[in-house]
Amino acid sequence: MRAGGGLAKQWRLLGGKPVLRWAVEAFIACGAAEICVVIPKGDEARVSSVLAGLPSWRATTGGASRADSVRAGLATLTGSAEQVVLIHDAARPFLKIDIVRSLLDALADADGVIPALPVADTIKRLDAAAVTTVDRSQLWAAQTPQAFRKGRLLRAYADWSAASPPTDDAGVVEADGGRIVIVRGDPLLFKLTNPEDFAMAEAHLSRTTRMGQGFDAHRFGPGEGVWLCGVHIPHDASLIGHSDADAGLHALTDAILGALGEGDIGDHFPPTDPQWKGAPSDLFLRHAASLVTTRGGRINNVDVTLICEAPKIKPHRQAMRERLAEILELPLDAVSVKATTTEAMGFTGRREGLAAQAVASIDLPSAPFAG
Ligand code: MG
Repeated sequence: MRAGGGLAKQWRLLGGKPVLRWAVEAFIACGAAEICVVIPKGDEARVSSVLAGLPSWRATTGGASRADSVRAGLATLTGSAEQVVLIHDAARPFLKIDIVRSLLDALADADGVIPALPVADTIKRLDAAAVTTVDRSQLWAAQTPQAFRKGRLLRAYADWSAASPPTDDAGVVEADGGRIVIVRGDPLLFKLTNPEDFAMAEAHLSRTTRMGQGFDAHRFGPGEGVWLCGVHIPHDASLIGHSDADAGLHALTDAILGALGEGDIGDHFPPTDPQWKGAPSDLFLRHAASLVTTRGGRINNVDVTLICEAPKIKPHRQAMRERLAEILELPLDAVSVKATTTEAMGFTGRREGLAAQAVASIDLPSAPFAG
């Protein structure tokens, strides 16, 4: 897999995920035994960070030309000459397993297989003299990945002697007398080339809706007020806790972490860590929201229920909604705060403490064909 040069598109975020990571994840999903990412010299730390946690990949430094980079990648592969190699441009993030299957099937009778699409637009040739129309009936636009057996591709590269660099690998095998077969490509395999291509790719992403729920309770102790949903309410007691004991914000933070599958508030902010002593809990909620953003997601709505006999919540509900909307950067109608008593039953009924529960709905991006 080639990853080009400079701070290039392969490192940029698409749906919160680096473009390269989309491509590598696609190959892992297809069952690739080994994946070599060819990177510019100096990008070793960046690729480690971008592909952190993924199996089966290694990186190697590319050469001065495209051909040198492909050779460098091939040199890292451990299989025999019969090993099937797919060479892919990392700037094509949306690779379906169906394409890989058809490439592998067709490789049984060919020296190389490429996905390609018939050219739909009328093609014009512009030269010094005039504009002329090109017959497009036999023209195809080549995509990647392109499939070969390793030994055949190495031989073709060894024999490559043309003055101009090859623009794809099939071209090298063609020049070496190899038989190239086309399988039907995929419009979603388009290459991110211009800035507007990123907007188009974002628009193609699917969104998966997730739910999470959270619950928290804190005990009353001596004091003159409580923090609830980021709002201070005068009261004849306060809530005891390591931080500011804002059960509303804690339950909501856990709801968002739950939707992300990211554990709970204690995993992210251990109560044993003295730096969170007395901490304002909007910090925890902001952190959970930032994890949603980091993954290219968005919060759809949140709903909090506060459970206590006192203090009375109703006079503060609107301020709480406004505060949550501000912290989460959500419209007010996406934020709900409700309150109930337990009719004098249980620990909240006995006014020993109060409880909060929350749900959050988030959308996370996924590949356009992953549903
Ligand atoms: Mg708590």
